[in-house]
Amino acid sequence: MRVVLLGPPGAGKGTQAAGISQEFGIPHISTGDIFRKNIKEGTELGIKAQEYINKGVLVPDELVVEIVKDRLTEDDCKNGFLLDGFPRTTVQADSLDVELSKMGIGLDKVVNINVDKESLIQRAVGRRICKDCGDTYHTTFNPPRKEGICDKCNGELYQRKDDTEETVNRRIEVYLEQTKPLIDYYNDKGILVDINGEQLIEKVGNEIILSLRGE
Ligand code: ADP
Ligand code: AMP
Repeated sequence: MRVVLLGPPGAGKGTQAAGISQEFGIPHISTGDIFRKNIKEGTELGIKAQEYINKGVLVPDELVVEIVKDRLTEDDCKNGFLLDGFPRTTVQADSLDVELSKMGIGLDKVVNINVDKESLIQRAVGRRICKDCGDTYHTTFNPPRKEGICDKCNGELYQRKDDTEETVNRRIEVYLEQTKPLIDYYNDKGILVDINGEQLIEKVGNEIILSLRGE
């Protein structure tokens, strides 16, 4: 199963990715997570990406495309993959198409999670992430059992620097301009699935899994 998760920032892509990845036995590849790991480790890529990410704008296509190209050749992608946060521009989508066709494969489905702007801001501003395992929580909608502490690994929870209201607004604008056109791009290819993301986390997850199973 080769899947792309599409949707505005804060729609719930990362939250849903764990269940999908487990259900179909495919790796979850989040370009945002890859950048945050590189920033944490102070790599050259992390240093370059950080200035864009903190401003809420996209990292240049050529940097992102190379990372994904490399990642897709790894062994664990043989039976499929779940891309989260990539592609985000038509240039990235075209490059992905070219790479996959060179490998003799193609995408099965693109899951588009729809959420209103007001909810997106609430979701992103309340988002908290475990600094050790990366698990995602929300102060109101999905709180950890113990405030500030990860349920899974007891790691400390932190707030992303780009999750302030101002930066989230900017990221939503960037999404509308550069990423939303991908809905038509994949709809035209006949592989787009629309999901109502304004429901409980479990309900959204069940709908995605049913639609990927073709039920
Ligand atoms: P994305 O990866 O699309 O940016 P996340 O999965 O990180 O979004 O979710 C953003 C925030 O919204 C997180 O704090 C998460 O706990 C919360 N969230 C995700 N799905 C839902 C939902 N269906 N209802 C309410 N809050 C949600
Ligand atoms: P995310 O974790 O998906 O919300 O991504 C966080 C930030 O990383 C984005 O606001 C971008 O600055 C950057 N980023 C992640 N994925 C991409 C991508 N495919 N193209 C360009 N920038 C990206």
